[in-house]
Amino acid sequence: MTTSYIDRYKDLKIKINELERMNNREICLMVVSKRQSIEKIVALNDLGQIDFGENYVDEAEEKINGLNTDKITWHFIGRIQSNKIKKICSLFGWVHTISSKKHLIKVNEICKSMNKIMNICIQINIDNDDNKAGIALENYENFIMNIHDLRHVRLRGIMTIPQNNSSSQNSFSRMNDLFKKYNELDTLSMGMSRDYISAIENGANMLRIGQGIFGKRI
Ligand SMILES: *Cc1c(COP(=O)(O)O)cnc(C)c1O
Repeated sequence: MTTSYIDRYKDLKIKINELERMNNREICLMVVSKRQSIEKIVALNDLGQIDFGENYVDEAEEKINGLNTDKITWHFIGRIQSNKIKKICSLFGWVHTISSKKHLIKVNEICKSMNKIMNICIQINIDNDDNKAGIALENYENFIMNIHDLRHVRLRGIMTIPQNNSSSQNSFSRMNDLFKKYNELDTLSMGMSRDYISAIENGANMLRIGQGIFGKRI
């Protein structure tokens, strides 16, 4: 018998509940539903799953407009392209991948015109990996300067994707140090299927998990 995504989801929830108790803090699970069907999203939403993450704007648009429900909070976790910011602002409640001031200002401007406030996380390129987006850790302070003047974005936290190697523990730990330094932040978005336990051990309170639930993406 093969295990279904429903079973894996339920098992994962149990495990996260356990880790919440052990660590005495709430941990939000974002289900990463890129390349997954609307049917699967609905099935998990029916089980009480609220937060879903998508990477590709056009694919997300189809699902989000197709579902047209206020029972889901949509998180954008893909690379931001300037020409897609308007769509991102209209479709999503959160953007986790802010790493350019130009984009940040544009998100604020567009959200202002839409009369909404966008929850944002700043993406940190914690390992200074050329293949990954995000700002350098050292530039964080400078990056968030004047962010409070932007009334239509709400800075919630920081996000990262560490390199997939043995030092990710250290990368998570440096993210946690930054997170704890700024009281105004409430979200530490890190931990994917491969490394979420280590992320939780290092303070993560928002996990982004896809394959660990749906199986390997093709
Ligand atoms: C795809 C993706 C995830 C989920 O990765 P899995 O290996 O499917 O758990 C998490 N975060 C980001 C930014 C992603 O692009």
